[in-house]
Amino acid sequence: MSIVQPLLVLQEIDARIRMLQQEARDIPLRKEQEKMRLLGAQTALTEALTAQKGAQARVDEAELDIKVRRDKIITLRGQQINLRTNKEFAAMNLEISTIEGQIESCESRQVAALDHVAVMRARVGECQKKLQEDKAAVDGYIQELQARLVTVQTELAQAEAERQEASKGVPTNFNSVYMRLRDRRWPPVVALEGNACGGCHLTQPPSVAHVVRRNNSLVACQTCGRILYAP
Ligand SMILES: [Zn+2]
Repeated sequence: MSIVQPLLVLQEIDARIRMLQQEARDIPLRKEQEKMRLLGAQTALTEALTAQKGAQARVDEAELDIKVRRDKIITLRGQQINLRTNKEFAAMNLEISTIEGQIESCESRQVAALDHVAVMRARVGECQKKLQEDKAAVDGYIQELQARLVTVQTELAQAEAERQEASKGVPTNFNSVYMRLRDRRWPPVVALEGNACGGCHLTQPPSVAHVVRRNNSLVACQTCGRILYAP
């Protein structure tokens, strides 16, 4: 058995811890990404609501235009009674029929705007439905992520306990070398592949490879400093 075996056990646990820690860090980011997915549906709904409001404003505007002209006709008809000449009477009739023509065009404008309101109302409904569906999907996924985070934290606590136990079997001098390396070069313990370091792949001098195979002391890669062992 290799003398670095206790370090390999530690390294295997550390590998799991690193993965779990990474996953725990990623989960909040993934949640945010999920929430961002709702932005598209939210924007579409806001735009549809704005368009619906605009169409309704055009309906109201046409309504007001019609009312102003109808009032004007009533006023003119009232004044018409007091007119003295046929010419004046005919002139006012002409004015009234011009206004009636304007009312007709306002009414077609209003009908078109009403059609647009109906279209936009349907569009708003679709957008609301889409947003609800998206939200349900996102909420479901966020719940899964939350549950996964709880599992990750539990597994992390288990791995930390396992590591505590495993580190008892590691000689102190081995442990200090390993710990110094761990945060700079991952993985810190690598197999010799032929005569090359399994981490940086540089060929070791034959004397170094020879000492590694003798398996009675910690040997560092001449280039990256990782701990080498003969598989
Ligand atoms: Zn190396």
